[in-house]
Amino acid sequence: MPPLLAHPSPPPRDPELATPLPETPAHKRRRVDLVLRRVRVRDDEPLVDVAITDGRIAAIGAELGLHAPEEIDGDGHVLVPGLVESHLHLDKALLADYTPNASGTLSEAISATARHKATVTAADLRARAETALTMALRHGTTAIRAETEFDPFIGLTGIAELLALKRRYAHLVTLQVVAFPQEGVFQHPGTEQLFREAMRRGADVVGGVPYNDIAPHRHIDLCFEIAREFDRPISLHQDFSDGAEGMTMEYVARKTIAAGWQGRVAVGHATALGALPPSRLKPLLALLREADITVVTLPLTDLYLGGRRDTHKVRRALAPVAALLKAGVNVAVSSNNLRNAFTPFGTGDLLSVAALLIAAAHLGGGDLLPRVLDLATTNAARALGLGPEYGLAVGRRADLVVLDTRRVHDAVIDLPERLWVLKDGRVTVRNTRKTEFRATPAAA
Ligand SMILES: [Zn+2]
Repeated sequence: MPPLLAHPSPPPRDPELATPLPETPAHKRRRVDLVLRRVRVRDDEPLVDVAITDGRIAAIGAELGLHAPEEIDGDGHVLVPGLVESHLHLDKALLADYTPNASGTLSEAISATARHKATVTAADLRARAETALTMALRHGTTAIRAETEFDPFIGLTGIAELLALKRRYAHLVTLQVVAFPQEGVFQHPGTEQLFREAMRRGADVVGGVPYNDIAPHRHIDLCFEIAREFDRPISLHQDFSDGAEGMTMEYVARKTIAAGWQGRVAVGHATALGALPPSRLKPLLALLREADITVVTLPLTDLYLGGRRDTHKVRRALAPVAALLKAGVNVAVSSNNLRNAFTPFGTGDLLSVAALLIAAAHLGGGDLLPRVLDLATTNAARALGLGPEYGLAVGRRADLVVLDTRRVHDAVIDLPERLWVLKDGRVTVRNTRKTEFRATPAAA
């Protein structure tokens, strides 16, 4: 680990933003690798400079006076920590041409993809995953939790390819590989052995999908068993349905507490929560908070596949994001799928997914709108367990994005271009897209 500058940690006032370093002469003499000049990190404070050394934020403050071999003029643009995709299927991205889903339902998406799986080669999987990864990186994503399928049909091909991508792209993105048994475990003998082999080979996270197995509770039990064996966090596809029948969320929450896995369990979709009346939802939200479970809402897929049997007044089929936030549950938003049978569209732009969520989950109010950016950054980083490595504070990894907007408040709703993307303090993306008006209005 590179040495941190010997300066106190961020103050209690705002854990995401450090107090500027005192500009002592000694400090000014310190060499830094890169300085981002004049960026906006809070709307109610002056512009700041951000100095970076050894891949980490060395100082944040107004007119730091430090000089570096590389300097970027932020010109008043907003600086945010790198975007975090907390639930993304790179291995089955870009399959839409091969896996049509005529009904638009979840069940047909799963069966169409399963049929195609037999024809997938390692080279094909690698090429699609790499293209999808590049789509995310281009939009300022610096960390991804990649749900990666294994089963007796595809074996460990996806796991091996994603682990190889993780190594090749380590200087561009923090990639966590989830061992995800999409076809269930107990309905396909041999899957359990592959599960443990995937973990032995280096998968970072235990995946699961209780609703797509013959024994949902046993499925959950096994996920916790393997998580304990390998000391890994858990990411479940959980309660993905329009109605509240057959939910296992309460079981997962109680299991999390019993196992002492608080803060290490994330559940994707959780759309069935949205079907619960307030009287049943309230105690479950309190339990989710106690278990410190992250709910990852996946609006592209959830809105696309949800409510398909509703002939009128079609349900949104979405996790109740506002209620979750108000109950103090950690909520993240992620893309889930890119152009396949589950979601036949998507650009890899996580900010656009967050923007969609504002309308879909009614997050436009003054109390909630400013928190939407957190769902794609800080909250998602917490889901990945990035902890004190992540954020705009001294000592944190310099995974940063300069946005083409000048108010933090507008970071999502402007859908700004990502002007600069930095990973571990090195520029990975520079975007110079420019719009010119070639016509002028008529005289008044
Ligand atoms: Zn998923």
